[in-house]
Amino acid sequence: MSRTTSFDDSDIGPAIYALIERLFPICRSITGDGVRRTLDILGEHIALERHEVPTGTPVFDWIVPPEWNIRDAYIKGPDGRKIVDFRKSNLHVVSYSTPVRARLSLAELLPHLHSLPEHPDWIPYRTAYYNPDWGFCLAHRQRESLTEGEYEVVIDSELKDGALSYAECRVPGARDDEVLVFAHICHPSLCNDNLSGIGIAVQLAKFLASAPRVYSYRFVFAPATIGSITWLSRNESRLGKVKHGLVAAVLGDPGMLHYKKSRQGDAEIDRAVQCALRDRGTGFKVLEFSPWGYDERQFGSPGIALPVGRLTRTPNGCYPEYHSSADDLSLVRPEFLADSFHAYVEVFAILERNRCYRNLSPKGEPQLGRRGLYRKTGGQQDIPDRELALLWVLNQSDGGHSLLDIAERSGLAFASVAAAARDLEAAGLLAPVSGG
Ligand code: ZN
Repeated sequence: MSRTTSFDDSDIGPAIYALIERLFPICRSITGDGVRRTLDILGEHIALERHEVPTGTPVFDWIVPPEWNIRDAYIKGPDGRKIVDFRKSNLHVVSYSTPVRARLSLAELLPHLHSLPEHPDWIPYRTAYYNPDWGFCLAHRQRESLTEGEYEVVIDSELKDGALSYAECRVPGARDDEVLVFAHICHPSLCNDNLSGIGIAVQLAKFLASAPRVYSYRFVFAPATIGSITWLSRNESRLGKVKHGLVAAVLGDPGMLHYKKSRQGDAEIDRAVQCALRDRGTGFKVLEFSPWGYDERQFGSPGIALPVGRLTRTPNGCYPEYHSSADDLSLVRPEFLADSFHAYVEVFAILERNRCYRNLSPKGEPQLGRRGLYRKTGGQQDIPDRELALLWVLNQSDGGHSLLDIAERSGLAFASVAAAARDLEAAGLLAPVSGG
């Protein structure tokens, strides 16, 4: 994106993967020490501003919930052996489970057990936010093998007044206007859903800080839903600075990139992402906005209405490993993480460079050959993209069409259009429109 960058992205995939590996074992939830430990680790990579919002704080129509922490949990079978052990997988406990110590019959235990009949060896990921309950998740095969008898269940958890933790990293640019990237941080040992977005956001923040930028960039690491709502409610007075935004998640699987449009549907971020994906020449899909999915629905609520889309690979819920123990370190791969990282970088490159120009010689085409901008011999059938881009930029630059407009209308790569504008400006044929 910048020729002066000091950022080395040759090992970006392995670097993101290494961070995911380190974060993977931590038991995260919407609040608690797992979130804090996660933010501690992110803080080793990028400068974070940390926030602790006390339990009970009203945030729009919600209230920051009690803080949840867990030390241990298990089920012992009728023979006294541990058959389900939180220490082996934190997915075994329904997140936010209330504490319990009890001896139960199989019939009493079964309603508290969750499994996936269609994937009998995977442990599901389940939560009990905002509705006090407890439960265990286990492989369906194991659940089916349970016999009559007395079971001992222990969940050594705690729900008490504490705080909701989140963090921000702001990378300042020439303008105060911001590009927002939101990554949720509330999932326990799950890689694609949660950790891939976190890992890519961290590397993007590092990358953006490595060279001067036009926009300022703000990365928000917060729990899903309650975290984005908390952030929005605490930043309402400055939301006008957010000009573009993306929700980053599920970015490490082998599926193709999917862009979900903002609520507006035709915001600059929507068009920039689609142009960047088109220019990559690899497959991608565009999804219309819906008030479902990740935090794009909070940013796109009618009283907020920020232009925030969502750039993922296979969308949440559309891959079988989603919200299960199979969303592990084998599902995400460094090459896909690197590919997703580059897609974000290419989107930012368009946002950074997009603006309107005015043709300073608008009566007929200016003579480009004389200025060394056009080939010397004429008559060829095919005109090179570079020259086509010069003609398009000159033709459309009446002060009202941006480089993104021109890239869309011409079908030419944004990078070609931007390079043509640079050359024409250098030749004195084009001038940027202030505020364009
Ligand atoms: Zn999820």
